[in-house]
Amino acid sequence: MIIVKGISASPGIAIGPAYIVKPDNTVIEKRRIPSTNTVWELRRFEEAVEKSMADLDASEAQVKSLLGSKYSKVINAHKLILKDPLLISAVKNKITNEQLSAEYALSVCVKEITSRFENLKEELFRERKYDLADVAKRLFENLTKKKQNKFSAIKEPSIIIAHNLFPSDTINLKSKNVLGFATDIGGKTSHTAILAQSMQMPAVVGLSDASLQIRDGDLIILDGETGVIIINPEPKILQDYKKEQIKISEAEQSLKNISSLPNETVDGHKVALYINYDPRRDVKAWDSFQSDGLGLLRTEFIYMDRFDPPGEEEQYQIYKKTAQKFGKRPVTIRLADLGGDKITQLGLGRREKESNPFMGCRGIRLFLKYPELMFTQIKAIVRTSAEVDCPVKIMIPMVSYAEEIREVKKVLKEIVREFSSNGIIPRHPLELGAMIEVPSAALSLDGILPEVDFVSIGTNDLIQYLIAVDRVNQEVADLYDPYHPAVLRTINFIIQGCRKKGKPVSICGEMASDPEMIPFLVGLGIDILSLSPRMFLRIKSVLRKLNFKDCANLAQAALLMTSSEEIENLTDNFPLSSD
Ligand code: PEP
Ligand code: MG
Repeated sequence: MIIVKGISASPGIAIGPAYIVKPDNTVIEKRRIPSTNTVWELRRFEEAVEKSMADLDASEAQVKSLLGSKYSKVINAHKLILKDPLLISAVKNKITNEQLSAEYALSVCVKEITSRFENLKEELFRERKYDLADVAKRLFENLTKKKQNKFSAIKEPSIIIAHNLFPSDTINLKSKNVLGFATDIGGKTSHTAILAQSMQMPAVVGLSDASLQIRDGDLIILDGETGVIIINPEPKILQDYKKEQIKISEAEQSLKNISSLPNETVDGHKVALYINYDPRRDVKAWDSFQSDGLGLLRTEFIYMDRFDPPGEEEQYQIYKKTAQKFGKRPVTIRLADLGGDKITQLGLGRREKESNPFMGCRGIRLFLKYPELMFTQIKAIVRTSAEVDCPVKIMIPMVSYAEEIREVKKVLKEIVREFSSNGIIPRHPLELGAMIEVPSAALSLDGILPEVDFVSIGTNDLIQYLIAVDRVNQEVADLYDPYHPAVLRTINFIIQGCRKKGKPVSICGEMASDPEMIPFLVGLGIDILSLSPRMFLRIKSVLRKLNFKDCANLAQAALLMTSSEEIENLTDNFPLSSD
């Protein structure tokens, strides 16, 4: 048995035999053409471009009808490459000036452009080399009139193992016997990963040289939840994963029945269930429909992969579109939490590279240093609040001093006053909240609460800062422990502090989506859990099987415990009403 850790590109668990996709090792020979043939060679290349464009048009239509227009943009990106003079004119020049065959001229140009992509700092741009390679492959096929079909030999449901998969390959997997895929290279932002998620196909990428360690037919467990693959698992592990897989699919099916039932325990204690969103994703009607509101819009993602910050109008359009999906239910827009691992390419003057970015200029700290960014975003949010039916809430990330909230309030007040004089008035009172995710904010909550309308606990960061364990560092991943007594006690401290002052408190970190943690959080009296949409029904179903009094007892018992093991034991064995 071999376990290889990669990057989770798309959630879910798949188990099946490996189907190895061999790398394309076609060597393109340097071939010169007689000068009298250049016109004919150019024509051949142009025909291949035209044919490739027609193929892409067809794929675009297919993806649009299969997955929606958001995903057909991937194909559109390929069409733009095919129109790009950087590639097309360069190839034609090589054919004309150096009398090279179209195939060879294309291969040289692709190599040159790829090395330019590889030198770019931003991962997203570096990954565009895969799109270029995909377009080049299509052009080669149309020049040589030979189609490669990497998946033609799949005879049984399999897990694809490849050094790399192109987006066009990924689209084709939908109709094949494919359970999931794993690749050596690729990142979370690659189009291949984006497509896998949209097809709900489990996928793990960034596995280094895993494809060399696997043979055709090896049994593979692909765990897209944690980004791990297990090659030829031991029987016990295989059994556990099979159970988990069955549990997930049964749960998903039966969960659909509870979607219209109230979010409450068996003894009628209500907990509002919200969802978290990345604004780059379309809010699906289904997701918004079943939640009590939007608890965290991670707006920083709009600022990424670009050199200029998004303007007021662009942000307004995004927030408005998102908020409208929630009808009258509240929508919480977080001020951009840039910094930390959410690195920005924005031209913010000559910023020093931070040696401890998670402790550095992140979230509200960055906004207070670059107030024009804050002004633009708050203006867009205030405009949204004047336009939509739902209450709009603004949430401040990475608060460590009450003073930071007061600074935001000043800006908010100024903007609301300015807009009001122009008749742009929020339809509901604009609420302001603080994320409590830094220990100093938790411990000085009494100074923070008078400044805010609500509080949301960011457990992802709270755990990181409480235990001093970098949340993205693999070396210390085993120390990142949501069950640490300090974590539980701090959460209790925050919740009780809020309850005393009558301020609503939510949890929007991943802990809210951990089924085992729900009895404890409910027992502490949490008002709102904001969940990842994928976990929504699972958590709702747990909530609906709980007895509030038992949860309160469990929470009190857990708070007295001094080790994570004891706490985990307690929460793992907590009975649900229908168990
Ligand atoms: C958190 O820290 O728990 C949180 C919700 O914010 P993020 O994960 O975006 O830092
Ligand atoms: Mg956070």
